[in-house]
Amino acid sequence: VVEIGLPEHSAVTTCAYCGVGCSFKAEMRGEELIRMVPYKDGKANHGHSCVKGRFALGYATHRDRVLKPMIREHHTHPWREVSWDEAIGYAARKLRDIQARYGRGAIGGISSSRCTNEEVFLVQKMVRAGFGNNNIDTCARVCHSPTGYGLSTTFGTSAGTQDFDSVEEADVILVIGANPTDGHPVFGSRLKKRLRQGARLIVVDPRRIDLVRTPHVEAAHHLALKPGTNVAMLTALAHVIVTEGLVDEAFVQERCEWDAFQDWAAFVADPNRSPEAVEATTGVAAADVRAAARLYATGGNGAIYYGLGVTEHSQGSTSVMAIANLAMATGNIGRRGGGVNPLRGQNNVQGSCDMGSFPHELSGYRHISRDDVRETFESLWGVHLDAEPGLRIPNMFDAAVEGTFKGLYVQGEDILQSDPDTKHVSAGLAALECLIVQDLFLNETANYATVFLPGSTFLEKDGTFTNAERRINRVRRVMSPRSGYADWEVTQLLARALGMDMDYRHPSDIMDEVARTTPSFAHVSYALLEERGSVQWPCNEQHPDGTPIMHVDAFMRGKGRFIVTEYVPTDERVGPRFPLLLTTGRILSQYNVGAQTRRTANVVWHHEDLLEIHPHDAEQRGVRDRDWVRLDSRAGSTSLRACITDRVAPGVVYTTFHHPATQANVITTDFSDWATNCPEYKVTAVQVSPSNGP
Ligand code: SF4
Repeated sequence: VVEIGLPEHSAVTTCAYCGVGCSFKAEMRGEELIRMVPYKDGKANHGHSCVKGRFALGYATHRDRVLKPMIREHHTHPWREVSWDEAIGYAARKLRDIQARYGRGAIGGISSSRCTNEEVFLVQKMVRAGFGNNNIDTCARVCHSPTGYGLSTTFGTSAGTQDFDSVEEADVILVIGANPTDGHPVFGSRLKKRLRQGARLIVVDPRRIDLVRTPHVEAAHHLALKPGTNVAMLTALAHVIVTEGLVDEAFVQERCEWDAFQDWAAFVADPNRSPEAVEATTGVAAADVRAAARLYATGGNGAIYYGLGVTEHSQGSTSVMAIANLAMATGNIGRRGGGVNPLRGQNNVQGSCDMGSFPHELSGYRHISRDDVRETFESLWGVHLDAEPGLRIPNMFDAAVEGTFKGLYVQGEDILQSDPDTKHVSAGLAALECLIVQDLFLNETANYATVFLPGSTFLEKDGTFTNAERRINRVRRVMSPRSGYADWEVTQLLARALGMDMDYRHPSDIMDEVARTTPSFAHVSYALLEERGSVQWPCNEQHPDGTPIMHVDAFMRGKGRFIVTEYVPTDERVGPRFPLLLTTGRILSQYNVGAQTRRTANVVWHHEDLLEIHPHDAEQRGVRDRDWVRLDSRAGSTSLRACITDRVAPGVVYTTFHHPATQANVITTDFSDWATNCPEYKVTAVQVSPSNGP
């Protein structure tokens, strides 16, 4: 029994792990966090939580936290602890010197979906107005950028269409490329509750995730497709809906562009796109695909939930648009129980994209080339903004290797561990003259840094996160920043050192500026959030109470737009050298690359990543359960231990990516989504062979 004692003070705040955005009461004794209590009035979680949000907070006070700024002349030299003044001054001088020698576009910044909306807004403002270019990108580049492209193109904005409560009215739930019980546990539980009440489930996933068969829940259909064939599968589902007369024509005629629908319908009706024609491609029996399509189209309210198994492909954006097509064709948009819902991995993926952190967009998903939008910011910030989109993250590494990009500020992301093709990323980072890393820990990326600025946890700052249902939740400071400054204050110090006139006294000032400049946030303020607890954007004159369900009377773009989605096989193919396909995912107790959860007691539940391999493939290679195996791809190799299971089909292997020792991204290739450069993490041709260990 552990004596916890009574708290001395507490504040309601928001979990900093996944995109569910659960509310908690953080109970404190002095500067010590003694307990996180799920908050019963939290609108995303209604008093529930998972093992991460409730228990995995030890990282905030972990001994590995770096609390003093550090600098060094070259990344191979030892670090030197310095004052904040010296570190910020040094960083600003280096950045200005690089611009003087190589041009304005030789530096850039990367913001983080772990940081608050206000922090992301400041980073993109510093880059655009202070650096004088649009070389700003976000770690959402490597997860949900295809959602941005796909949903903007079809519906008119990049956001899930429903609130979480809507699932209570879903009759058919289609989960594709997501594993909600591990990745989004609190929402996963709600989903299971609805399934226990009788909703029918279709799972489209190469792996038998828990939802497929779990106590009192069994999927009506598990379409265990081959990795990389989402578009062929989604188009085959559409083929059945169109050719069997299951389209909701009244909805399509009234709400969608009719010509585009007709083009799309003719395209999907082609017999070459039928479930029978693509059976060999997807590996799924045509009869199952037909039955699943009929169930989705005729089973009542149909809700689609998807994750990175959709986006992290060379056709990630195409897959998102294929999903949107299905929902529009069946009239499952604009009403409760339906919708298209991206399950966001990180706490603030939605928010970081909303805040204008892509190189081509200002806040509210408005293209940088729009004169009227630039003028709004130019007049407020007193600067001229470049109308050309800047560099995306992978292009920054390319330009660094080529010698035209020399300085980078990275807030809250371990790009070396997170991004694909580690060799290329490290070559790019090593070629920089100045890499400024702002983080909680000396992460892998910091190996190449020359300036390290200590970061702050969500417990140490005020702000907001926006969850996967567009809900803007407050983050409240319950302890002083351990390094002296919250992340937004550090960005402000750097911006001032670069000569910018920036003087926010509190994150609420930053949100006021977001509201002033961003139509979908026009009514958002900290006062409103205090009054309501949280609010879902759009929140403006037309929707003063926020918007739980989007596209009710009309799509954000006016009429919904069907897009022809041609299946183009990935260039990543199996062959004699690499005969298996590797795909990746998460486990309940851990979060992303594990920087936080590995530094908590949660590590007891998962202390290594394992390679799931089918018994047939294991036997062929003489691999027994828990043997060490070597995993090779054309990009690199790593070692981990095998877990023999029929959760994966023959020809498919699977691993998680929570431990740096696994280095899963050493294996992944440099292929990426055609529209957004989101890496193709979910399909890598590999070979597995016995090994003696790492
Ligand atoms: Fe909720 Fe996600 Fe945090 Fe778990 S990790 S408590 S589901 S926000």
